[in-house]
Amino acid sequence: MGKFGIFSDIHANLAALEAVLQHLDDERCDACFCVGDVVGYGASPADCIDLLRERDIPCVLGNHDHYVTSLLDDRLKQLRKDVRASIQWTQENLDMDQLKWLAQLPRYVDVDMIHLVHGAYGPHPWLYLTKADRLAKSFPHQPHDLAFCGHTHVPAIGLLRDGDSAPVLDYLKSGPIPDADKVIVNPGSVGQPRDRDPRAACLIFDTEANTVRLFRVPYDIDHTQKLIRDAKLPDWFAVRLELGR
Ligand code: ZN
Repeated sequence: MGKFGIFSDIHANLAALEAVLQHLDDERCDACFCVGDVVGYGASPADCIDLLRERDIPCVLGNHDHYVTSLLDDRLKQLRKDVRASIQWTQENLDMDQLKWLAQLPRYVDVDMIHLVHGAYGPHPWLYLTKADRLAKSFPHQPHDLAFCGHTHVPAIGLLRDGDSAPVLDYLKSGPIPDADKVIVNPGSVGQPRDRDPRAACLIFDTEANTVRLFRVPYDIDHTQKLIRDAKLPDWFAVRLELGR
């Protein structure tokens, strides 16, 4: 029982990660959890990995974390050119110990009442749960009533209510977790929000009150953009941060 900070998709954005951790500390969370994609897009992958490890924050494997540790995989050729550039840059800017840490991240974290998966449950781990029919592919494989995912960078809640034939998907609002057969909650993204709100996103899951509270935390976007441009990463990765998309 307690208050747990849950966040996802840091994407090598150290200023956003620090702002979120500070916020969750101020709210006196008992522990924090990360739903994957620590790296990719941003210019501070090593610092973000080191900070999560220092604080011993459990984390699941995200698709970008996976790509960075499997550069020889032929399937990477199918990724967008700018994403490939970021993966290669990230690999070159991590040491062996940091790469090993990424490579050993589990696909699922299950600690007491906290169940995490980056993309989706079932045979398609990187399925984007952006539509009800995609929830319908993940829910039958979800072994827990309540789980948390990331991957889409948009705060959302998916539900399959008792007696309903199809799941529903909604924007996440703070409040009690609805009564349903299956629930999956996405806290949005720390380091690259895509819901047109550029502030870092995170949530607090209160297991006693059975509530989630969604927070948006401002951070130094200008500085983060400068780091991306100094690293000569694709400029769109800097531009999109101030647009929140
Ligand atoms: Zn992501």
